[in-house]
Amino acid sequence: MATHTLFLLPGDGIGVEVMAEVEKLVAWLNAEQKTDFATDRGLVGGSAYDRHGAAISDADMHKALAADAVIFGAVGGPKWDKVPYEVRPEAGLLRLRKDLGLFANLRPAICYPALADASSLKKELIEGLDILIVRELTGGVYFGEPKTITDLGNGQKRAVDTQVYETYEIDRIVRVACDLARTRRKLVHSADKKNVMKSGVLWDEVAQAVARDYPDLRFEHILADNAAMQLVRNPKQFDVMVTDNLFGDVLSDAAAMLTGSLGMLPSASLGAPDKASGKRKALYEPVHGSAPDIAGKGIANPIAMLASFAMALRYSFGMIELADRLEAAIAAVLDDGLRTGDIAQGGKSIGTEAMGAAIRGKLAA
Ligand code: NAD
Repeated sequence: MATHTLFLLPGDGIGVEVMAEVEKLVAWLNAEQKTDFATDRGLVGGSAYDRHGAAISDADMHKALAADAVIFGAVGGPKWDKVPYEVRPEAGLLRLRKDLGLFANLRPAICYPALADASSLKKELIEGLDILIVRELTGGVYFGEPKTITDLGNGQKRAVDTQVYETYEIDRIVRVACDLARTRRKLVHSADKKNVMKSGVLWDEVAQAVARDYPDLRFEHILADNAAMQLVRNPKQFDVMVTDNLFGDVLSDAAAMLTGSLGMLPSASLGAPDKASGKRKALYEPVHGSAPDIAGKGIANPIAMLASFAMALRYSFGMIELADRLEAAIAAVLDDGLRTGDIAQGGKSIGTEAMGAAIRGKLAA
């Protein structure tokens, strides 16, 4: 029996094309006896709707729950723009996040040396950048009740969203950030708006209490608006930044874009550790969508997907050395000047398969 199980959900559009490169990489790693993964494949998003009339079937949901890690491509596309709201492609991803209890979203922003010139910031500001935004993913203002639009009857309406956080939600996400910081440069910034929001006051109170359990770390509070400014002023001052769902949504996109194209950005979402095994439920996915404009052309950049798989090696399987080598292989092909269209800046480009093969080639070298 294989040591680890991966459940692959390619999804739609370029999700399928970039996942194919993960499958080839896993087959190669297994053949080289570097890993012992058993993989299974399911449907999610529009492809699941076409087959099952749902954005993910119950059978595939069970497989996702049973797997050691879920590797997700991307969902959506114009074909499914008019399907009923509850079964729209994104509903598959939301169900996975909810049923797997994925409360911690990890968004690294790493500047590959070869792409430092492509950033909208000055090269010296981002060269060597390696930051990790840890965003709370299942609470806060996106989910808080009441969430309403009321007609006031006088030609006016009132819209209400509710920002709610309880102690345990803050405690567990800050612990994830602190645990990760221990494997990095041992610096955590916790971003909130405690100057104007009660949820921010509680956020900081709980975060500071958690930080006392990690005396080996440097723990800094930062107001979320200042965090946004500092990210574009001097991003290298950060290591790990932990924040709530709303601020994390905005700050992680800003941080990611410091370093380049959507086709380069990986992410991980983690759940609570299982009491018996200590293993966390986890889903790994590129930040990008299904890119209908380039789907089927074989030109999508597979790096975000492969870097997401590297995160799986690191966070779900503790294969730190292999994850480092895969990330180094990605950096090496970029150093060699290989580019897919999205990062070619008008220069010569190669396709999805050639990029995947080049990265496997570097690993084999
Ligand atoms: P998108 O990320 O799919 O594409 C935005 C732009 O970036 C496009 O021009 C695309 O060609 C380019 N791009 C994205 N990934 C790329 C890659 N790997 N290589 C090269 N170029 C790449 O976002 P969108 O166009 O706003 O959305 C398209 C569909 O994807 C929609 O149906 C949307 O709902 C869905 N979507 C899904 C997810 C997800 O599955 N997590 C995330 C975002 C959007």
